[in-house]
Amino acid sequence: MSRTRNLRASASTLVLLMLAAPIGLLAQTRVVAPKNPYSLDKDVQLGSQAAQEVERQIPLLNDREVQRYVADVGRKLAEAIPAEFQHPEFRYSYKVTDKREINAFALPGGFTYVNRGLIEAASNEGELAGVIAHEISHVALRHGTAQVAKAQKYQTLGAIAGVAGAVVGGVGNVAGQLGQMGIGAYFLKFSREYEKQADILGAHIMANAGYDPRDLANMFRTIERTSGGGGGPQWMSDHPNPGNRYEYIVKEAELLRVAHANVDPREFTEIRARLRDLPTGRSGEISRNGGGARNPSTSGMPAPSGRVDYPSGRFRTYTENNLFSIAVPENWRELRLGDYVTFAPEGGYGEVQGQFVFTHGAQIGMSQVNHRTLRQATDEYLYNLSQGNRNMRRYSEYQRESLAGHEALSIVLTNVSEVSGQTEFVTIYTALLRNGNLLYVIAVAPERDYQGYQRVFQSIVRSMQVNG
Ligand SMILES: [Zn+2]
Repeated sequence: MSRTRNLRASASTLVLLMLAAPIGLLAQTRVVAPKNPYSLDKDVQLGSQAAQEVERQIPLLNDREVQRYVADVGRKLAEAIPAEFQHPEFRYSYKVTDKREINAFALPGGFTYVNRGLIEAASNEGELAGVIAHEISHVALRHGTAQVAKAQKYQTLGAIAGVAGAVVGGVGNVAGQLGQMGIGAYFLKFSREYEKQADILGAHIMANAGYDPRDLANMFRTIERTSGGGGGPQWMSDHPNPGNRYEYIVKEAELLRVAHANVDPREFTEIRARLRDLPTGRSGEISRNGGGARNPSTSGMPAPSGRVDYPSGRFRTYTENNLFSIAVPENWRELRLGDYVTFAPEGGYGEVQGQFVFTHGAQIGMSQVNHRTLRQATDEYLYNLSQGNRNMRRYSEYQRESLAGHEALSIVLTNVSEVSGQTEFVTIYTALLRNGNLLYVIAVAPERDYQGYQRVFQSIVRSMQVNG
């Protein structure tokens, strides 16, 4: 008897072991990125141009703490992308928009936007991380450009010619073309097949980063719940449910080992409380008037009068979210338009024929360039600039400079002011940042005032600090 019992006991142990072995070996679902004929650089180029367009149209949240927090969560996730989908060319970045809708989206190359409404609706950091993981999965799998390629192949849309031409040719005003057709058509709305891929890869990324993938499933439930009636949040129409979403994510979660978590739950609670106290619409000048116009916030601005006060000898420091800080004369105001900031005195800036112009002051921005040496990148930038300023002429040779600790160039140009018809001097400073973008400062003053302004411009440039 006892022998039999022993035998049975060891038999059942054996059975258990055999069951346990396959569970332990069960592979997570394999994700295969769709075919994509475009280079990785093209994703970055198109995404970056679309991002500039987006930022002309969507107000960003002007709060450094919240921005930093979301960027930290995003960085953790991007580092956890499986090696086969890690593209060093990509530039994952995370910005919080000042919008209440529960939504987030990411553009090719990694430019990711999270609505404040998503953070407010999440019940923990894992739920927020889940949606970000889903978004960056679309990026890592290159769904945006794969979709462009597909549409081009089947000629499903007549209008695709513009974008496809831009993707292939890589020249011309891609952002403008995307703007006309709606960035959403190609980069934001995905098929159910791509959705499922992003869910599964998103679950893998979460587990690698130390988040429970079931938080993603829960967040989808929340989004679906709040989408009842009223058309539902944009997120649902951009990311259609492939069916059984909750169930298959939970199932996938069971196949994954969650890495050791490194999350302090208090941080999420604090950030959400902080958001609750932040009113909407603190987001500065950009896109108060919605999209459409090239420089929405200039509409209604008078033309520059050209009568300006002399630059104050006292300087104040201006900091642009995580990007740079600079000291400018106290009596200059800042004008934040899309992807650049202009500092100018009253009377020295305004709108002429729908374009923002300035006669006195300095503009700081970053420009996407194809060339990788400072000299060539600057040539490329100047060429692009001259396309919109036909009277611009080189007045000096390049001078070596230093800008925010980077090797830099400066050059003086002459131009004919659109406002006064008089000659103005334009000094341009450029430096290549580590991310490959060209940082530029354009300093402008009329010929007659130039001597005095030159000194001010030099102080401004010397004060500049850059993150990156
Ligand atoms: Zn999606």
